[in-house]
Amino acid sequence: MKEFKRKFCPNCGSDDIKWALPQNWSLWECYNCGYTGAVVIEDEEMAKEIREKYKKEKSHDD
Ligand SMILES: [Zn+2]
Repeated sequence: MKEFKRKFCPNCGSDDIKWALPQNWSLWECYNCGYTGAVVIEDEEMAKEIREKYKKEKSHDD
């Protein structure tokens, strides 16, 4: 049983995201890639795909 829903960054798939402002819970900030926005992913499978894609894109930078 999973009561606690994890949230993931839509940009990099990290779960290292926090509310950017405690007073404004619709705005999220990702500590992994620096993303800020209202959109977060709650689907762990989707987050996994995003993480894979993000890693690939990152490895292209050189
Ligand atoms: Zn991120």
